[in-house]
Amino acid sequence: MTAVETRDVLVVGAGFGGLYSLYVLREAGFHVTAVERGSGVGGTWYWNRYPGARCDVESLQYSYSFDDDLQQDWEWTERYAGQPEILKYAQHVSTRFDLTDLIDFNTNVESMNYDAEQQQWTVSTNSLTYKAKFVIAATGCLSSTNLPDFPGLEQFEGDTYHTGRWPHEKVDFAGQRVGIIGTGSSAVQAIPVIAAEAAELTVFQRTPNYSIPAHNKPLDPSEQNEVKSRYEELRSAARAERSGILSIFPPNEDLAREASDAEFEARMNERWDYGGFGFYRSYIDIVVDPQSNERVAEYVRGHIASKVDDPATAALLSPSNTIACKRPCLDTEYYETFNSEHVHLVDISETEIQAITPTGVSVNGQEFEFDALVFATGFDAMTGALLGMNITGVDGCTLAEAWAEGPRTYLGLSVPKFPNLFTVTGPGSPSVLTNMIMAIEQHVEWIRDCLVAMRDEQIATIEASSDAADSWVEHVNAIADQTLYPSCNSWYLGANIPGKTRVFMPLIGFPAYAERCEQVAANNYEGFALA
Ligand code: NAP
Repeated sequence: MTAVETRDVLVVGAGFGGLYSLYVLREAGFHVTAVERGSGVGGTWYWNRYPGARCDVESLQYSYSFDDDLQQDWEWTERYAGQPEILKYAQHVSTRFDLTDLIDFNTNVESMNYDAEQQQWTVSTNSLTYKAKFVIAATGCLSSTNLPDFPGLEQFEGDTYHTGRWPHEKVDFAGQRVGIIGTGSSAVQAIPVIAAEAAELTVFQRTPNYSIPAHNKPLDPSEQNEVKSRYEELRSAARAERSGILSIFPPNEDLAREASDAEFEARMNERWDYGGFGFYRSYIDIVVDPQSNERVAEYVRGHIASKVDDPATAALLSPSNTIACKRPCLDTEYYETFNSEHVHLVDISETEIQAITPTGVSVNGQEFEFDALVFATGFDAMTGALLGMNITGVDGCTLAEAWAEGPRTYLGLSVPKFPNLFTVTGPGSPSVLTNMIMAIEQHVEWIRDCLVAMRDEQIATIEASSDAADSWVEHVNAIADQTLYPSCNSWYLGANIPGKTRVFMPLIGFPAYAERCEQVAANNYEGFALA
């Protein structure tokens, strides 16, 4: 019989959300454990070890703010930290705050059932069963990989890799013919690095993406010290930004459609040369006004044309869709990589991949031979990991049934019929449109305060009301509908997964959201039923 462990709180996941949940809940006196399917901490940064993996948020911002000693002590080495450095940081945090012993590794949740009578969750895993009053799902927004059902996939005789499940050992592509499917953020980072090693690299592109140069570089120690000397002020300024991310370019109210050619060119050049997402803050109307959006898109297309030598390849790499509507990419020499003779671009926009064969890939009757295949095909974002846990709430209602029409949460934190279950950066919260670590801190602190208040008031259960969730989903979509975001096939909408209901999942705008969460708590958790 499976052993049963009892906890006040069970956390699922030991990425940044899970680690911080463990820390604050232990400090608040709860008996808490995390289960983690990996063999180590780090979540996203544990799994995504593909060549070139790097954070698109600057390292001095993509880090915890809760402990000043930690943020003063930790030395980042580059403007954007690479995956190995971020993983080391997660490991350091786990060790520094004695969290590692609170984590059961190699433990995968197989199902979770709420017992309304006992007012507790039973969480079954591949090893132990846990009973816990509360469950915190810190399962990440981009953690359930998407591997399309390519016919013949299992026949391929070479090595296969998914960017989101990269092996821990170094993969050596030297001398190999490598095929990569996908041109999203992961591929845009991996392609230049794999190309530097492989004998031949063939990129299968269904939709081109806009990418802005990252201009990554070693961090200047004086810049790092300057930020550290004002960390508190800078962190709180970041929390007041829509994305929770500061840029050297302050927000402005200027409209791209009204800028003269000279003004427009000068401003865009300045931001292009600086690199990073500050590019998209050049004008306030980029994601709301189609004409302004097209002006910026055309500016980027001009750069693609000037970077890529072969005009036909440049044309294929040039997107025609709305810019910034899909999650934008940052790169290091992505477009330039296609100037190398051993790098080939295959357009599969009209003719999908027919089959994976024992020796390679077949497209439109043409055979491509490979030693290795890389799937950079993304994730079942925001809902995949939650639905993968087979969760059943009150009245036998499964999460899959509750979300048949798309994810339905209150504040991205809680789901009606699933009492005492919290989601960290869940659908309906700003999450992926912000600096994730900042969003995680806000969510986890809210959950901690809620659990402490419940303990103090002797409240056993908390459950989002159906009406509150309905109006929240309406609110999230009403805000998205004021923008161009819903106009393209992005994973924000679930459009990358065949059959997934299209709902815009993240909420735009961090500050108003955080304020709303505070108001809800101050108004005795309005929108929730407390029992
Ligand atoms: P993604 O953006 O979803 O890109 C997946 C790619 O695979 C797309 O080019 C897609 O084409 C292609 N694809 C999917 N199914 C396909 C099929 N059946 N046939 C052919 N092509 C197919 O995934 P990702 O690149 O892993 O990035 C996901 C998110 O992770 C990013 O948007 C970002 O938020 C995060 N991320 C962040 C960083 C960072 O901070 N540096 C790095 C990597 C990833 P279509 O566009 O046509 O669907």
